[in-house]
Amino acid sequence: MNFELSTEQSKARTGFREFVEKYIAPYAAEYDSREETPLELIKAMADAGYLGGLVPVQYSGKERAQMDALTWGLLCAEVGHVSAALVSLLTVQSMVIQTMTKWGTEEQRQRFLPGLASGELIGGFALTEEKIGSDAKNVQTTAVIDGDSYILNGKKRWLSFGQLAQFFLVIAQVDGKAAAFIVEREREGFATEPIKGLLGFRSAMLAGLNLNNCRVPAENLVGRVGFGFSHVAGTALDQGRYCIAWGSLGMAMGCVDSSLAYSNERKQFGVSLKEHQLIQEMVADMVTQTQASRMLCYKAAFLRENKDPSVIMETSMAKYFASRTALKVASDAVQIHGANGCSNRYAVERHFRDAKIMEIIEGSNQMQQIIISRYAFQNYQAIKTALST
Ligand SMILES: Cc1cc2nc3c(=O)[nH]c(=O)nc-3n(C[C@H](O)[C@H](O)[C@H](O)COP(=O)(O)OP(=O)(O)OC[C@H]3O[C@@H](n4cnc5c(N)ncnc54)[C@H](O)[C@@H]3O)c2cc1C
Repeated sequence: MNFELSTEQSKARTGFREFVEKYIAPYAAEYDSREETPLELIKAMADAGYLGGLVPVQYSGKERAQMDALTWGLLCAEVGHVSAALVSLLTVQSMVIQTMTKWGTEEQRQRFLPGLASGELIGGFALTEEKIGSDAKNVQTTAVIDGDSYILNGKKRWLSFGQLAQFFLVIAQVDGKAAAFIVEREREGFATEPIKGLLGFRSAMLAGLNLNNCRVPAENLVGRVGFGFSHVAGTALDQGRYCIAWGSLGMAMGCVDSSLAYSNERKQFGVSLKEHQLIQEMVADMVTQTQASRMLCYKAAFLRENKDPSVIMETSMAKYFASRTALKVASDAVQIHGANGCSNRYAVERHFRDAKIMEIIEGSNQMQQIIISRYAFQNYQAIKTALST
């Protein structure tokens, strides 16, 4: 496994940094307090090729090459450095793109991928419901076949950028078997309502989705009936975890940066904070854990590029560890900033609120623990070999 970036990856990261510094960093706190992301910023991200970064070239209609897994991770980390909400935009868009690329029909790919690549289309992912979250196999939204269409009924909740998405990938039950459907905003019986007042991810423009006898043509079924959770949502969630792992890494890096700068300049008891050993202890743990997150993210990227079958488990591990680290590091960063860390004049305050959400989305950390431990028990010999090399 190589930790060196190629010239192209290094160049791409420099570009991401410049973009983030110019277009996101100065405004992230304001968007958070307004609980919205302006369309101009989304357009700028789209024009830079970020929203459609994972669309295969044959559908993007542009000269721009599809990003490799590591480059995509670097993008999520750079954006995560300043805005978790915008990581969630990259996350949900790429979840839809990956799913459509893998499970969509050629007609569906032709219909949606060019718009997702250019950013003219924002896609949403609608799995969670009021009563069903982690137990996602048992969603209650139904789809009933009627001639050459399906009629959907149900209520989805907590949908990132659901206020803006022009269509959703909706997971529903067809005769007790999970299936995924493309449901466009203009369909009759489709309504969204904004969700405000969140702890974090405030500018992620969440919405609930109500489907009331919403009819979609049979060609909007993605994959087969029965594949909705295991295959379609499975692909989406794996991609989501990958983005959240990298976004959490970026957030931890942002908190480390602020804490180093602050403990350098802030003086108490006649010396700067960095001279106090208890501050040094916190910084040592923050840096070490962030570096360990980075290793897991790089490993997940490496396995992705090599299409290694262990990638799903390793991505869960990266998401689990990196999101826990982000929360711990953000909490210590607030501690180091004292009262200033409790004020929205300092980004660590927002990072702390956002970090908690990293532990919940794309499968809560308890779900990741279940996945990882199940894998460990089922693959005991493989794990033993991996740990002893
Ligand atoms: C900001 C934000 C954005 C989101 N975006 C989307 C989106 O775009 N699309 C979408 O579909 N969903 C989205 N979600 C929903 C998210 O995926 C769910 O919140 C998550 O899956 C957890 O489900 P839940 O909130 O219903 O918690 P629950 O499933 O009710 O769980 C509550 C608690 O119990 C724990 N728990 C549950 N089952 C077990 C178990 N078997 N063993 C041990 N502990 C358990 C959980 O880990 C959690 O701590 C979003 C949520 C947030 C906050």
